[in-house]
Amino acid sequence: MRRRRGNRAGKKNFVPSIDVEAWLAKNPMSMVTCPNQPGNLKISAQSCVKRHKTANEPRFATIGAEPFNLFVFKMNLKPCADCELGARLAAKAAKSDMAAA
Ligand code: SF4
Repeated sequence: MRRRRGNRAGKKNFVPSIDVEAWLAKNPMSMVTCPNQPGNLKISAQSCVKRHKTANEPRFATIGAEPFNLFVFKMNLKPCADCELGARLAAKAAKSDMAAA
């Protein structure tokens, strides 16, 4: 029989108290639904832009099967490289960065 483990400090586990539905209702443009990742992924527009930019960095073109962890990372970003939504959001972010500067 497996014993139940309590945390060491004897405190209750942290549970975030964010009402996700209320937050999404207030910030409808902050999240996008990814058309390429599995599971109807909702991702923040900022993270989507980061993934698109990272996927299109030239250094990823030279990564082969080794080191394996980088290969896995590269393959995870593969759908982002040619993604139209990611490109559109990246262009929009670059435009707003230029306007702010
Ligand atoms: S860049 Fe495209 S594939 Fe990548 S997370 Fe954004 S929407 Fe999804």
